[in-house]
Amino acid sequence: MKTIMLVDDSTSIRNILKNALVESYQVVEAENGKVALEKTPGSSIDLFLLDVNMPEMDGITLLAELRKIPAHSKTPILMLTTETKDELRQKGKELGASGWIVKPCEPDKLLGAIQKLI
Ligand SMILES: [Mg+2]
Repeated sequence: MKTIMLVDDSTSIRNILKNALVESYQVVEAENGKVALEKTPGSSIDLFLLDVNMPEMDGITLLAELRKIPAHSKTPILMLTTETKDELRQKGKELGASGWIVKPCEPDKLLGAIQKLI
């Protein structure tokens, strides 16, 4: 079973997304970018789902940090956001985001986007 790291500061959003994923994937959770970076080395992650707005370390900074880790230079990273600003997307693209999911999203849509990547 492949492993997804789900990073979002909202417990309720993590629960909703986790429910959609657990049948098909092993899910590792983190509540912000800092915690995610601490958990990443010990886990073999096949795909990351990153919220953008989080305390401690936001999703854009985490994306940049993950791309510096050789093991994750090419790991799919999907950004989760309620914002669809072009500027944010452009920055994400430059930093190597694999795609964007606009919250709230249908579980089927999320699974479809993940299945295209892993
Ligand atoms: Mg958030």
